[in-house]
Amino acid sequence: MGSTEQAEQWQPVVPIPAAPIFVWPPKPLGVLWFFGWKQFWPGGAMWLAAAWLCWRYATPDLASMERFEPGWIATIWLRNAGLITLLAGGLHWWLYRRRGQGTVTKFNERWPGESTRFMFGHQLWDNLFWTFVSGVTVSTGFEAVSWWMFANGHAPFRDFAGNWLYLIVLTVFAFVWGNLHFSLTHRLLHVGKLYDWAHAVHHRNSNPGPWSGISMHPIEHEVYMSSPVLLWFIPSHPVLVLTLLFLNLLSPALTHAGFERVWLGHVERGRPSFLSGDYFHQLHHRYFDCNYGNTLTPIDQLLGTYHDGTPEAHAVMRERQRTGRT
Ligand SMILES: [Zn+2]
Ligand SMILES: [Zn+2]
Repeated sequence: MGSTEQAEQWQPVVPIPAAPIFVWPPKPLGVLWFFGWKQFWPGGAMWLAAAWLCWRYATPDLASMERFEPGWIATIWLRNAGLITLLAGGLHWWLYRRRGQGTVTKFNERWPGESTRFMFGHQLWDNLFWTFVSGVTVSTGFEAVSWWMFANGHAPFRDFAGNWLYLIVLTVFAFVWGNLHFSLTHRLLHVGKLYDWAHAVHHRNSNPGPWSGISMHPIEHEVYMSSPVLLWFIPSHPVLVLTLLFLNLLSPALTHAGFERVWLGHVERGRPSFLSGDYFHQLHHRYFDCNYGNTLTPIDQLLGTYHDGTPEAHAVMRERQRTGRT
C-alpha cells in the first residue's frame, strides 16, 4: 500500500466520460454501443446472473405464491436482508472497519462517523435503520406483489423456450429503463417538499459508505424501487423483474462504497481488484445540484447539470448556483 500521504492525494480520472449522444457529427455506432452494450457489461450482466441464481435457488415456487402469506414473504425478506448484509456488510467491514486498503482510491479522505444530523447520532446506525426497516421491506413488497401477479396470471409470463430473442431485446430495454427510471425519479425527488420530506434522509450522507446506498426514507423507497412495475404489464420473465429489483436494492452498496476500486487483499501485492464507487454520483452527494442521473443516462447533459469532475465543470456549476439556475 502507498503511504497515507500519497493516498490522500489520489484523484479519480477526469473528465468522467459523457455518453456519445449529444455530439456533432453524430456517432450512431457509439450510441448503439452505449445503449446496447455498456449498460449490460459488466455491471448489468452481474446483476442478471445474481437474479438468475436467486430465482433458481433462493425464491419460493410460483405455485406457492398464489396467495399472500407471511411465510413466503418472510423468506424473501430474509433472503434480501442476507444479500445486502453480505454485500454492504462485507464492503463496510473491509473498507471502513478493517480499513483494509487505508485511503487508497478513497474519494473523501475523512472517515464517516458520528454526527447529530444522523439518527442515533451515527452514520452507520442511521444507514442500517433505513436499509432494513424500510429498504429491504419495500423491495420485498415490490417482489412479493410481482410473484403474486405472475402466480395468478395477472402479469404475462414468457419462458425462455421459444422467446429467447424477445427476452434478449427485453433485457437490453430493462437496463435502459432501470437507469432512466432512476435518473427521472431522482430528479423528481429533488423538487420542493419531496426533497425535504423524503430525499433529505439519503443526502445526510455527504460522505457515503456502502450502507448509505439505500439509506432512504420510505417515500423515496416507494418511488425509487418502482421500476419493475413496468414489467407487470409487458410480457416478461421473473428473472428480469428480479434483476431490476436487485439493481435497486443491491447495486447502490457498490456505487456508494466511497472508494473507486476495492482490492481483495493488500494493494501492493497486486491482488485482484474490482471497480466499485461511482465518482459521478459521489459528486452528487457532495454538491447536491449536479449529476442527478448516472453515467448510463444522459439526463444531466440535457439539463446542463453534468459535472465531469474537472475544475471547468465545477466553475460552471458554481456559476449556475450563484445565478440561481438549477
Ligand atoms: Zn439526490
Ligand atoms: Zn446516493
